[in-house]
Amino acid sequence: MLVSLSLKDIAFACDGELVGDNQLIREVVTDTRRIVPGCLFVALRGERFDGHDFADQAMSAGAVCVLSEIKLEGVCHVKVANTLEAYGRVANLVRQAFAGPVICITGSNGKTTVKDWLAQSLAGQNVLKTRANLNNQIGLPQTLLELQPYHQVAVIEAGTNYPGEIANLARIAVPDVVILTNASGSHFEGLGSLEGIAKEKGCLISGAAEQATVILNSDDGFFDYWCGLAGQRKVYSFGFTEQADLYAKHIELGADSSRAILCYQGESLSALIASPGRHQIANGMAMVLALLSVGFSFAAAVATLAQPIQVAGRMERLKTKKGALLINDCYNANPTSVKAAIDVLTMQSAQSTWLVLGGLGELGERQNEFHAELGEYAKAKGITNLVCLGSLAAIAGEAFKQQGGSVYFCENHEEAAVVVQELNENHAILVKGSRSAKMEKIIERLKD
Ligand code: ATP
Ligand code: MG
Repeated sequence: MLVSLSLKDIAFACDGELVGDNQLIREVVTDTRRIVPGCLFVALRGERFDGHDFADQAMSAGAVCVLSEIKLEGVCHVKVANTLEAYGRVANLVRQAFAGPVICITGSNGKTTVKDWLAQSLAGQNVLKTRANLNNQIGLPQTLLELQPYHQVAVIEAGTNYPGEIANLARIAVPDVVILTNASGSHFEGLGSLEGIAKEKGCLISGAAEQATVILNSDDGFFDYWCGLAGQRKVYSFGFTEQADLYAKHIELGADSSRAILCYQGESLSALIASPGRHQIANGMAMVLALLSVGFSFAAAVATLAQPIQVAGRMERLKTKKGALLINDCYNANPTSVKAAIDVLTMQSAQSTWLVLGGLGELGERQNEFHAELGEYAKAKGITNLVCLGSLAAIAGEAFKQQGGSVYFCENHEEAAVVVQELNENHAILVKGSRSAKMEKIIERLKD
C-alpha cells in the first residue's frame, strides 16, 4: 500500500467507531486467503459469503483489526454502518495520498480496451492499472489499495450496473482525467434507458477533481449533455468530424489494422492503428488525448497507436486446427460491440464469414428486438453464415434467416464447434457472446 493508515483516521473517514487500540495498518484485505500480518480485514457481505463470519479466522491469521458492521466481542474493530461503503472511503484515503494523475475510464464500450492500451502506452512509467475487469464497487477500491510508493500514474476502469455506482466510484477515485468512451445500449436492466446510462456515466465527470481534464466522444448523442456536466473542467473531444478537438479523417480500415490522418490543433499526422475496426480508432483517439493530458507530445502519443494491443478474448486472431482464421472476441458482448465485431469480420478476405453468436444478457425487456436487429445487421453487412447458440441468439438467427441467410441453431457449445470445425484457411470465423454464454468453450475446442 502507498501509505500506512492509523485506525483512528480510518474510523474518522468512515464515520465509524474504533473499539480497541489505535495502531497503524499497512494493508487492507477483504479475503482471508490474502491476510498479511498487521492488516485490516474488511468484512464484506457477498451473495454467498458474509465476511463477518470470517473475522476470527482473519485475526488468527494475522489481521490486527476488522472493519465490521457488527460489534465483535474481544476483537479490535472499527464499527461502521456499511462495510462496502467504508471500504471505498479507506481506498479514498490512499488515493488522496497519491500525487500522480489518476485516469478513470467509463462508458458502455471500450473501457477495458482503452485502459489496457493506455497502460501499455505509458509503459515508460510505473503504472497501476485495474487488473482484468475489476471495475465495480469492490474492484475499484481494491485497485487503489494496490497503489505503491513507486507508482507514477493510475489507470482505473469504472463500471456500473445500477444508478449511483459511478458517482460513488468517482468519490473514491476523484479522477484527474476522465475518459468517457460512449453511451450505448448495454446494462439496460439496471439503468432503464439510454438516458439513464448517459446520466450514470456522466457522474464520473461531475465527480472528478475540480481541475480535471475530461475526454469525451463528440459523435455521441450525449456529448453536449456531458460538456454541461464538466463545468469549469477542461474538455477535450475526439471524433470523426472536424467538430472534435482530435479527429480522424481519410480512414482506411484493414483486416487487422487501420490507417487514418489524425488532426489536433492544426497539426495533422498519419497514424497506423494496430488494432482493427473503426471503434478502435475512436478508442485510440481517446487514449491519445489522455496521453496528451499527462505530457506526451502529439507525435509521441500518435506513435503509440502502432503498438498492437492484445487482450485475451478481444479480437484475438487465432487459427483453427484446420487452418481457418478464428477471431476470439468472446470476452463479452453487447449490441454495439457485436456490430463492431461484424464489421471486422466482413473485412476479412475470406470465401465465407461465420459468426458464432451466443446470447446477449442484461438487455432488459427489449432483448428480443436487439437480437433480431443483430441478425438483420449481420445479413445486411454480408456475413455469409450465422451459428446461434441458445434461445436468445436464435432470435438473431431467425431474423438472419428471414433475410435469406444460412443459419445453424445449436443447443450447446459442442454442437456449435462441430458446425465450423471443418472450415479451412479460406474461411473466417468470429466467436462472440455475453460473458454468461461462455463462448470461450467453443474457442477451446476449435483452436490449434
Ligand atoms: P465491460 O462493461 O464488460 O467491462 P468494456 O467497456 O470494458 O466492457 P471492452 O472489454 O474494452 O469493453 O470491449 C468489449 C467489447 O466491445 C469488445 O468486444 C470490443 O470489440 C467492443 N468495443 C470496444 N470498444 C468499442 C467502441 N468504442 N465501440 C463499440 N464497441 C467497442
Ligand atoms: Mg471492462
